[in-house]
Amino acid sequence: MEVKIIQVKLISYPTETDLIAKMAAAICYSGGHDFEEIRNKAEEKPNEYLSKIVKNGHLSILEHNVYVFHISGISRVTSHQLVRKRIASYSQQSQRYVDAKSFATVKPKSIEKSDFNEEYDKAMKDSYDLYHKMVENGIPKEDARYVLPSATTTQMIVSMNAHSLVDFFVRRLCTRAQLEITLLAQEMLKEVKKVSPVIFRDMGPYCEFYGYCPENDHSCGRAKTLKQIKENQK
Ligand SMILES: Cc1cc2nc3c(=O)[nH]c(=O)nc-3n(C[C@H](O)[C@H](O)[C@H](O)COP(=O)(O)OP(=O)(O)OC[C@H]3O[C@@H](n4cnc5c(N)ncnc54)[C@H](O)[C@@H]3O)c2cc1C
Repeated sequence: MEVKIIQVKLISYPTETDLIAKMAAAICYSGGHDFEEIRNKAEEKPNEYLSKIVKNGHLSILEHNVYVFHISGISRVTSHQLVRKRIASYSQQSQRYVDAKSFATVKPKSIEKSDFNEEYDKAMKDSYDLYHKMVENGIPKEDARYVLPSATTTQMIVSMNAHSLVDFFVRRLCTRAQLEITLLAQEMLKEVKKVSPVIFRDMGPYCEFYGYCPENDHSCGRAKTLKQIKENQK
């Protein structure tokens, strides 16, 4: 069975995303009502100005920029984690209507490198063999799919605004996140950086972006946790 790798393509995005964010910030602090004046003001602002506002958490200025991705080759494990991000829009390939012949599976590196590699492949093959046997014998695809593994690949169209993307990136680029969703986040970040170099310039795991780790007792130790900062202040 084919093992898939993640593919991410940015298929739609607004023009001048960095400028739109600067204009949204400029309007917050402007007494004037003339659009050209606000646009000029925004154009004069250095990139540092926008980076600073984003880092300060004034993230509503990013919500005017929506990015649309085509994502394929991710497992159903990862798509399930992705759709927990509610401030976004999703359209996902249906297992009710699409035959599993076009699906592949994902194999985590830890399993590939382990003694379970062959057993894993066999479990995948057995699941798919049973699926096909059931479908060929009249079981509806929507019922036969119950036997498909979570490793089964899927594809989706995902739309997220830049505020949601910041929230998604800081959490899923963290070492505490699962590797597959981190790899997905890295690919999505690469794409949006091409069109919004300032907005996403400083993007990284939560600790790098905000300067502390929110994970407290589960921290990987590379940054001070909020708990440690508070204890040091006593
Ligand atoms: C490392 C990691 C581990 C995780 N483990 C688990 C797990 O074991 N089990 C699990 O179920 N989930 C888990 N999650 C998912 C997590 O709980 C969130 O559902 C997910 O990250 C989406 O974040 P969000 O709710 O901030 O985003 P969104 O759904 O996009 O929401 C954005 C913001 O809107 C507000 N909001 C949205 N909906 C509501 C609401 N109903 N009420 C009030 N405010 C709302 C909140 O301020 C929220 O931060 C994990 C996430 C991470 C990063």
